[in-house]
Amino acid sequence: MEAMIESVSTIDGVEVIHCTRQPGSLKITKRSCALRYLQAKEECLKVPKDEFDLIRAHSLQICGNCPEGKRFAKELSRTNRGPRKRKDA
Ligand code: SF4
Repeated sequence: MEAMIESVSTIDGVEVIHCTRQPGSLKITKRSCALRYLQAKEECLKVPKDEFDLIRAHSLQICGNCPEGKRFAKELSRTNRGPRKRKDA
């Protein structure tokens, strides 16, 4: 499935992306999108506890196959690592 994000906008000064893969015209920050992708990868083998958990797991499953989530997760990982220290400094 191709990338489904249509655009970026700002809500109360917070930049959000528009996700068309999730129902309801979801607007979500890049960080939250990345965390959903990572959570989906972590939980992919868990068995849902009840019908509510089943819906949550299905929603996360969409994120686990999402190229945008993967891209933002890589960006988040790079951000968390911080700048590299120079050996000769
Ligand atoms: S990872 Fe989830 S929230 Fe983020 S763009 Fe993909 S489907 Fe939407």
